[in-house]
Amino acid sequence: MALIVHKYGGTSMGSPERIRNVAKRVAKWARAGHQMVVVPSAMSGETNRLLALAKELAPERATQAYHRELDMLAATGEQASSALLAIALQAEGMESVSYAGWQVPIRTDSSYTKARIESIDDQRVRGDLAAGKVVIVTGFQGIDEHGHITTLGRGGSDTSAVAVAAAMKADECLIYTDVDGVYTTDPRVAPAARRLTTVSFEEMLEMASLGSKVLQIRSVEFAGKYKVPMRVLSSFTPWDIDINEEAKSGTLITFEEDEKMEQAVVSGIAFNRDEAKISVLGVPDTPGIAYRILGPVADANIEVDVIIQNLSKDGKTDFSFTVHRNDYARAIELLKEKVLPALGAQDVVGDAKICKVSIVGIGMRSHVGVASTMFRVLSEEGINIQMISTSEIKTSVVIDEKYLELAVRALHTAFDLDKPAE
Ligand code: ADP
Ligand code: ASP
Ligand code: MG
Repeated sequence: MALIVHKYGGTSMGSPERIRNVAKRVAKWARAGHQMVVVPSAMSGETNRLLALAKELAPERATQAYHRELDMLAATGEQASSALLAIALQAEGMESVSYAGWQVPIRTDSSYTKARIESIDDQRVRGDLAAGKVVIVTGFQGIDEHGHITTLGRGGSDTSAVAVAAAMKADECLIYTDVDGVYTTDPRVAPAARRLTTVSFEEMLEMASLGSKVLQIRSVEFAGKYKVPMRVLSSFTPWDIDINEEAKSGTLITFEEDEKMEQAVVSGIAFNRDEAKISVLGVPDTPGIAYRILGPVADANIEVDVIIQNLSKDGKTDFSFTVHRNDYARAIELLKEKVLPALGAQDVVGDAKICKVSIVGIGMRSHVGVASTMFRVLSEEGINIQMISTSEIKTSVVIDEKYLELAVRALHTAFDLDKPAE
């Protein structure tokens, strides 16, 4: 008998029919003798629907009070889907109980809309498991030390599931979604994308941090920190497929240095459309400019990603960086009001229609020329590179958003990812 955590995403929970399917699948696992904890997302579209309602009443404001209410609101999506799943399981003849984050409790810090899990008390859940119940725990939410409901950032149910699995020392955390595993890139963008049977934790971490939305990055961080055995697989297979076959399907996240070190140099391509570029033009090129520009940005709690400073000409330089699109307007305003006059710079300009495309692979450590192949491929496609950033196992470029699909597909082919793995 094992303790297994299942997580089902929004599409998998998208209708009463699908919820019934999830219930039948979970019941199959429970009847096979496993203790089951299930972490559902809200039904697909529900989180967006709720957040849009809030924006209809008042445009987003960067206040704690506003964000607190967003969490109060968004958390209802998971509360509803969890109760529905418990009802469906009961209809299948399984004893089942659902808990909201605060009832477990899953304790988080107070950063509304992007809270971090601090601890999980598993006593209540263990008690129910011991009594033979399937326990449903809402994804995406927790409670802070003052009793306020918090949410973990978009896609946060992955993190809830892995954190619950880590806290309970589960034997495995299975992330059921609408694709049958982790692919070489998003199959919606490159139809030639292939499923990976395994992906190393390090690569998965990079891919998630560079925009592959198949897993929320914090879920991968948790899996790494607590060595949670974790697999991504499809919820769209027939619910009654053989359980042993199901348990081996999808993509396994591995923690060992991969035995298959001979695999492709580049394992995957990630992209991110959520960033925007800002340039401060004509900045006097003196020591401390990076700090004088980015200090106020950091003080405003705006995260900066790729940074580039041009060569100076006549004592002046241009300084560019990217931020999340949600922070774009605020960052421009801040720079215009505070930084531009203080620095004596010429202008602040921005471009929200950019994207970042990245190649990822632990094989890049031991191979040279990978980045230059990337640059060649993009140049052959006539795509201008606006910024570059590299680390040991990835190279990222910022390009015009309109070339995203073209770039991803061309790189996918150039790095031999279209071909089936040996
Ligand atoms: P869920 O609602 O189950 O959490 P998500 O929409 O958050 O599902 O994540 C699954 C989606 O992630 C897929 O439908 C796919 O379009 C996208 N995706 C992005 N990159 C990848 C990748 N490398 N492999 C698989 N899916 C990816
Ligand atoms: N429902 C939340 C979202 O849409 C959390 C999740 O699906 O993981 O972001
Ligand atoms: Mg998701």
